[in-house]
Amino acid sequence: MLRNICIYTLIVTLCSCANNKAKDNLVTSTSNTKNTKPNIIIIVVDDAGYVDFGFMGSEDLDTPNIDNLAKEGVIFTDAHVSSTVCAPSRAGLITGKYQQRFGFEANGTGFGNSGDIGLSDNVVTLADVFKENNYRTIAIGKWHLGATSTDHPNKRGFDEFYGFLGGGRSYFPMNNPSKEHILQQNGKRVEFEGYLTDVFGDRSVNFVEENKDHPFFMYLAYNAVHTPMEAKEEDLQKYKNHPRQYLAAMTWSLDENIGKLRSKLKDLDLLDNTLIYFISDNGGAHNNSSENGPLKGWKGNEFEGGHRVPFIVSWPSKIKGNQKFDGLTSSLDIFSTSITAAKIEKDKSLDLDGVNLLPYLQNEKMGNPHNELYWRKLEESAARIGDYKLVSLENFGSTLYNLSNDLGERNDLSGSDTIMLNKLSNNLSNWESKMMAPLWREGKPWEDITYNIHKKLMQNKPALLKEPSDKKKTVIH
Ligand code: CA
Repeated sequence: MLRNICIYTLIVTLCSCANNKAKDNLVTSTSNTKNTKPNIIIIVVDDAGYVDFGFMGSEDLDTPNIDNLAKEGVIFTDAHVSSTVCAPSRAGLITGKYQQRFGFEANGTGFGNSGDIGLSDNVVTLADVFKENNYRTIAIGKWHLGATSTDHPNKRGFDEFYGFLGGGRSYFPMNNPSKEHILQQNGKRVEFEGYLTDVFGDRSVNFVEENKDHPFFMYLAYNAVHTPMEAKEEDLQKYKNHPRQYLAAMTWSLDENIGKLRSKLKDLDLLDNTLIYFISDNGGAHNNSSENGPLKGWKGNEFEGGHRVPFIVSWPSKIKGNQKFDGLTSSLDIFSTSITAAKIEKDKSLDLDGVNLLPYLQNEKMGNPHNELYWRKLEESAARIGDYKLVSLENFGSTLYNLSNDLGERNDLSGSDTIMLNKLSNNLSNWESKMMAPLWREGKPWEDITYNIHKKLMQNKPALLKEPSDKKKTVIH
């Protein structure tokens, strides 16, 4: 499944980081919905390219329903996940804090069989908080936060889990799937027919119907458009001459199912008072033909292509739609924003790294939600302060970029701007000193590959990818 890396033509575009206020924001009138407490839905998609949605400028993939969601909400232009790979990114999102605080830094060596990773017992999830506050909670789709019994979603705040525990699986029924690959509902295997993206979409719609009179929290984590590249025949026919046929078909199905959910919310008069997030868990991957447009790098490395992601926040009764927000934002902010929206008082022990985005989206606060953001996965790390970005590789060195005129991270300023180099390096070291050492790694074969990719990218050289010896395992990574 792996293919030669094509280095994207890096179009240096002006980053609009400086212009960081939501434009023309207004709080609109209250809705006529039945619940006073908002419903919360977090839609996470997997390994999607930065420019592979209509609302992000795609011209060859069709996403009319996700684009409608974007029109009803706010599109973020400088939003980042806290990790460049699946599992730690989800750990950050669902806890609202840098996942390195509890040692959840890497994907593990299981290549999708997540038996060797997991959330520490004392870690609180967003679902724990909503469950405690009388919300109905459900996780649908890919979990990838551990497969031991203490890590099961039912033990992590979710009343219901309808999905699979691992990092990836076939979109079609499998013969003898492992414990981590079975489709399950609360630990019990569910046999299904058809296509997994439809199955998850159907469950999301039915859950809304079942809970239309009660506030709910839904974590809807599609494994689309992660490998394996598999699509329905009818969708492949629709895109039979498309150069990215499988990705186009998988994206179409994902969009259809998000459309089903949106229609159900609308039909039940719940859409106005439902806070919906749409985000990808990391940058476009090297192996699913995704495109990251002007960004350098891809899933698994610390350039913008690894962690800057498409992000929408929609809450029609409270946030005016059809807007763009250019402030520096993190997936860690989803936690704080969601509990504030639900008027849940934050327990001081939570110690969140994310912030509440609502004042920025409701024209009460100007500026950047974050002045600084940090990333680290084993030997690779990065820091962002204002428009400046530092990328570091252990035992190799650091590069420095000014994203305001070099979004493609081509022009290394580390030799010429030593003041900023030292500032970002010192702040990164200071941040790292507060984090735990990783509780697990990704294994030498994979770490060697990602190390060499980083080295090449830092030197603006082509970064050809070599597969570890076990090809089968890498598909899911
Ligand atoms: Ca992913």
